[in-house]
Order: sequence, then structure tokens, then C-alpha cells
Amino acid sequence: QFADLEIELCKETCQKPDPDKLIFGHTFSDHMLEVKWDIDKGWSAPKICPFHDLTIHPASKVLHYASQLFEGSKAYRGYDNKVRLFRPDLNMERMKRTAERSALPTFDTNELVKCIKKLVEVDKDWVPASLKSSLYIRPTLIGTEPSLGVNKSNEALLYVITGPVGPYFPTGFKPVSLLADPQYVRAWEGGCGAFKMGANYAPTVMIQRDAVARGCQQVLWLHGSDHQITEVGTMNFLMYWVNKNGEEELVTPDLESGLILPGVTRQCILDLAREWNTVKVVERKLCMEELLEAIEEKRIKELFGAGTACVVCPIESILYKDQKIFVPTDTSDKALSIKFYNALHDIQYGKVEHPWTTLI
Ligand code: PMP
Repeated sequence: QFADLEIELCKETCQKPDPDKLIFGHTFSDHMLEVKWDIDKGWSAPKICPFHDLTIHPASKVLHYASQLFEGSKAYRGYDNKVRLFRPDLNMERMKRTAERSALPTFDTNELVKCIKKLVEVDKDWVPASLKSSLYIRPTLIGTEPSLGVNKSNEALLYVITGPVGPYFPTGFKPVSLLADPQYVRAWEGGCGAFKMGANYAPTVMIQRDAVARGCQQVLWLHGSDHQITEVGTMNFLMYWVNKNGEEELVTPDLESGLILPGVTRQCILDLAREWNTVKVVERKLCMEELLEAIEEKRIKELFGAGTACVVCPIESILYKDQKIFVPTDTSDKALSIKFYNALHDIQYGKVEHPWTTLI
């Protein structure tokens, strides 16, 4: 319960980094939020306290069976110097769904949003005063029961850390090259691809390194014998094309397969596209063969990834079956992906008042 929140402030604040030299995930704000849970007492009072190391038993479930999940969202300091959260309810609902799938305790998402709002308020000075930067928010939930054995964790810790982050593309949009190698699979039917648990990410690190070794920047995740396109690195995949009937369409893989993480940015882009109503919006299965045919027939207008980190990330090439296939790119203001970027930026930084933002 937010009403039980305890606050212990730091004696002195840490030195804030040079906003132009921020490396993602390397700098943390002064405070963190912690909430303990155990099977008998349930959730204890949430606490905002000075940022500190955790002490956990070496047999804790998280350290052996990866009983862990996380979220990622941002707070933005806007044109008016006010700080806003962006659709925190969607992140919290996804976190709750992941907690259920992980057999970790669930929680009241509204209460957690209120606690996070307070945490950001306490560390408001850490939200960069820049229209290109933001404060990254990382809620985390771990199973801390100190016992071996694959089982539900009877103890857990929910904590939230934050830290300032710089622009994803410091010098303007840079389209990326992708490795699409069907021998690698990120998620599968009945698996956990639709949930944001740490266990989904550790196995991708080696593959991301392979992509770089083969001259690509990110991985295009395929699935199944028909080489279904699922996601790009840690982003959702979107395709703006002219379909076989000559209609302009925005296509993204549907969520029903369970292979796709329901991205907040993906949802925003679909919501905006439906509201603008300038192109048809379709969520469905999409395979490499169909994409290759459309590239050949010059029906692709833009391919891009979408996620909190970059908002949109244009794609310029795909290495598939040892062949580098080039995709048309447009990083001008006329590109649909850049229109989404600008519309979301205007909302996030308060140029446009919108129900998706929550003022701190
Ligand atoms: N897919 C995966 C696998 C991800 O890790 C992320 C990042 N959370 C996304 C898509 C994009 O989600 P969001 O827009 O919520 O950041």
C-alpha cells in the first residue's frame, strides 16, 4: 500500500554525471524503492531509501533458477520543465502478468505506480533537463527464498532503481543491419516470450555477439520452419508496405502466438496509426518469404523496430541465408516511423498534453 510508504532520504546526494557522457545503465539516482514479500505476511510496507547493495543468501531462488523479472520505462522532463511518466499502467500490468507466469507474488499495479511516482519525485533532480534524455526506471522482482529446489519462492523482493540516460541516437537516426539466422530462436509457442523475465535475455547475449561478428548490429528473431518474423533485438518489429492489393499497410506480428513481448511502444504506434487512419493497421503472422517478395517487388516503404530505448529504429539491411538484403530507408520527417517518433516525443516531453502521461 502506498499509504504505508516509508521514506529515508540520503544524507548527501551523489555527483550528477555530464549529461553528454551518459552510458545507458551505468549511472543510478540517489534513492531506490524496496518492498519485501513473504508467504505468511504478504507485502510489507514499501520503502524509499538510499541506493544500496543488496544482501541475499547464496541459495536464493533467483541465483539458481532465475526467478526474476523486470520492467523498463522512462520519466521525461518536458518543455515546461515538468516531469512526466509515460503509460506506467501498461508497464505495471505487463509486470504483473510476468509475475504470475513466474510464480512470483502479484501486486496492485496502481499502488506500485503511486510508489514509483514518489520515487521519481524524490529524485526529480536526476531527470535530465534535456529534450533528448530521460530518467530510466527499472522495476525488478526476484525470488529470495534461501533454499535450493525448483519451486515457488516463498520470499521475494520487489525493488525499483532509476538512472539518467542519454539519447539512443545521439547524432540522428541511424538505420541498423540485422542478422536473421533461423538456427536461433528467442521464443516458442507455450514458452515465455510474451513475458519480461530475465531468463529470456541471458541466452540472447551470445547470439547478439554472433550478429556483430558477422557484421550486423542486431538480431532479427525468426521462428519455425516458415521463418516467421517475430522481434528485432529487444524491440518489436513493424513493416510499412504496400500489400498485394495495392493498399498501404502497417503490419506487426500479432500477440496471440505468445512469441512477442507486448511492447508499450508497439501499442502506442498501433493506437496512433489507428487514430490517424492514414494506413491500414494489421496485426498478423509475417514470414521471411513474404518480406523478400515485397522487397523484390519494391513494395516495402519502411521496416523498423520499436521500443522504449529508441522509440523507433529504422532497419536498412537483413543478412539472411548468407545474403545481405537491402531495405529502403527514410529518415526524413516524411517517414511514417519518424512521424511516430515525433508524435510520441511531443507527448512524452509535454509539448502536447495527453492522457498517456502522468505528471509527477
Ligand atoms: N521486445 C522485447 C523482447 C523487449 O525486451 C522490449 C523492451 N521491453 C520490447 C520488445 C519493446 O517493449 P517496450 O516498447 O515496452 O519497451
